[in-house]
Amino acid sequence: MPMSILSYYKNLGISEKVFNLGEEIERLLKPRFDAIDKIAEINQAKVLLAFQNNRVDTACMQSSTGYGYDDIGRDKLERTYADIFKTESALVRPQITCGTHALTVSLSANLLPGDELLAPAGKPYDTLEEVIGVRPSPCSLMEYGVSYKQVDLLPDGTFDYENIKKAITEKTKMVTIQRSKGYQTRPTFSVEQIGELIKFVKECKPSVIVMVDNCYGEFTEVIEPSEVGADMVVGSLIKNPGGGLAPIGGYIVGKKEYVNRCGYRLTAPGLGHEVGATLGVLPRLYQGLFLAPTVTASALKGAIFAANLYERLGFEVIPNGVEDRHDIIQAVKLKSEKAMCAFCRGIQFSAPVDSYVTPIPSDMPGYDSKVIMAAGAFVQGSSIELSADGPIREPYAVYFQGGLTYPHAKIGILKSLQELLNDHLIDI
Ligand SMILES: *Cc1c(COP(=O)(O)O)cnc(C)c1O
Repeated sequence: MPMSILSYYKNLGISEKVFNLGEEIERLLKPRFDAIDKIAEINQAKVLLAFQNNRVDTACMQSSTGYGYDDIGRDKLERTYADIFKTESALVRPQITCGTHALTVSLSANLLPGDELLAPAGKPYDTLEEVIGVRPSPCSLMEYGVSYKQVDLLPDGTFDYENIKKAITEKTKMVTIQRSKGYQTRPTFSVEQIGELIKFVKECKPSVIVMVDNCYGEFTEVIEPSEVGADMVVGSLIKNPGGGLAPIGGYIVGKKEYVNRCGYRLTAPGLGHEVGATLGVLPRLYQGLFLAPTVTASALKGAIFAANLYERLGFEVIPNGVEDRHDIIQAVKLKSEKAMCAFCRGIQFSAPVDSYVTPIPSDMPGYDSKVIMAAGAFVQGSSIELSADGPIREPYAVYFQGGLTYPHAKIGILKSLQELLNDHLIDI
């Protein structure tokens, strides 16, 4: 007799009770999952067309060394990104080390001494505080004479238009908008909402450069922020657009004028886009981009599954079980450090790599409180792979994301619940 599916779960240390609850939750989610598959289908078509229009071919899988002059694969990959995001230009490079670096390049390339940066939608991602200089740091924008202003969201999570208008002055050169909630519990903005904010900001000052931090948002909708007026859109290749295969990298897409400056900032004035060897990574960047729509869909399904499971158990989850999704992050307010640790253990113990290690909270560069991180990833720190993390501070929320496949995300989430049960932190 073939083994029942339950016995496979039992082999992974997941009890019948937890498994059954998972089955029940999953059954209710079928229509939502179908809608996500449709988004993936549209994005798959969009990505495929961009590959074809740019005549991506076998030669593109070769990589350059040294200066990297005339790297056709690199240049076509950038054209392909530009087409997908409907922008004039793109900078997509393994030399961009992470998302924070991509954002730093795009800010420091376009802000000069005396300019001001405005965040009209509240506090940016933790690591950007040091980039901007909110937390004093060597080489911050602040040190180079770039000032910073921030307008927080209204208590109901909407934009504070009145104060945004007041904050825009002759000094305001750039505006930064973060699509995803990051380590906050505000809602993530939809592309449409971002478009409304951009429209307002440009009405106040047409010359302002709008940059959107698109981390975790790519391919969750059928349009991207560059289609609603963003001048630059920035993200990490070890999140959604790398499809789990990109081993490193970041992208900046947008208006040629601004993206060119990013090239000069990344390499050197006068050199810009022309240099930068790809050292063998192009096949993974191409193939990862090709898989990104369905990988993102898997992660989205995992997030929705987690939201509905933990909501059922009485936890506050952001977004809630029925809300529309604009990024792959799922926050679960676990209310204690112990529960955060148990949750993260479950994710870690379900990983294909490093499944035998126990995550513990510790200090991390760029973060101002201890952080716990669970990830057993093929690519170190890749958060399109199944992962969970969160700063150890009120409201003790864990941020869950990723899953290269939906079944893996589901297993990880059920295992997290099992760990909470094993530690008697909840009852089902
Ligand atoms: C991940 C992330 C970043 C920073 O990316 P790293 O690759 O970790 O440096 C910036 N902004 C948001 C919203 C993110 O999610």
